[in-house]
Amino acid sequence: MHAIEFKNVSFRYEEEQPYVLRNVSFQVEAGEWLAIIGHNGSGKSTIAKLMNGLLFPTEGEIIINGIPLNEENIWEIRRQVGMVFQNPDNQFVGTTVRDDVAFGLENRGVPRAEMMDRITSSLEQVRMQDYLLHEPYRLSGGQKQRVAIAGVLAISPSVIILDEATAMLDPLGRKEILDTVHRVQAAQQLGLITITHDLNEVMQAHRVLVMNDGEIWTTTVPRELVKRQTELQQIGLDVPFVTQLAHALVRQGINLAEQPIDHEELLDALW
Ligand code: ADP
Repeated sequence: MHAIEFKNVSFRYEEEQPYVLRNVSFQVEAGEWLAIIGHNGSGKSTIAKLMNGLLFPTEGEIIINGIPLNEENIWEIRRQVGMVFQNPDNQFVGTTVRDDVAFGLENRGVPRAEMMDRITSSLEQVRMQDYLLHEPYRLSGGQKQRVAIAGVLAISPSVIILDEATAMLDPLGRKEILDTVHRVQAAQQLGLITITHDLNEVMQAHRVLVMNDGEIWTTTVPRELVKRQTELQQIGLDVPFVTQLAHALVRQGINLAEQPIDHEELLDALW
């Protein structure tokens, strides 16, 4: 059983309009991290909305942890799929961190006695347990996203989706969020999908799925992907700065591969 399965999914927003997704098929296993990348308008957010039933496929099938996505199963699907979006301020509803994490639990009818345990344990997982009574609005961008992730973890999902969830953070904040979510997803064997337009953000993922104009352009591992600089630029994606730097040095006659430094290790150190 896959954590997430898309089977020949096509989607259009209105009849008579062109399809914005065409024949999209992929799987994510439990414990696996798939990054989805593509230029603006390539269909990434539409995929995210299809995964928690904000939209339904026009054609094809989506199965989450063995449960087919349809109107009947929508609430079960939303319990399985935790979503974190770009702007944490739009996601806060509580006046304290505790109330905020509690909100999703109340909505899903979790008994009061169980709620506090779940709140504490999910805040511990993102290392925000000391902020229980803080006001969400006063936290830093990275802390806000960690609370949003705790809110998602509290509902015990099998899958977590981050839709451009690091886009508003500085590089350190981004790394912190990706490290946090990676740690939790590996420990709990969750399926993880991160959606981004920034190639720097996909380097730690197990696999990358590249979208281009509503279709899957390729699915590969991050290190293979960044080698395809010219092709990537043709579909509107910039390779990570460190890769550009390495190429620029080669053009200057400095080939890192021939230096006593290990190229791969250097890239690892930079990421
Ligand atoms: P991305 O997240 O990669 O930027 P989207 O999934 O948001 O891409 O958009 C894919 C395509 O669907 C774009 O052409 C966009 O204009 C179109 N689209 C997005 N939302 C709507 C909508 N609500 N109604 C009609 N078309 C939409």
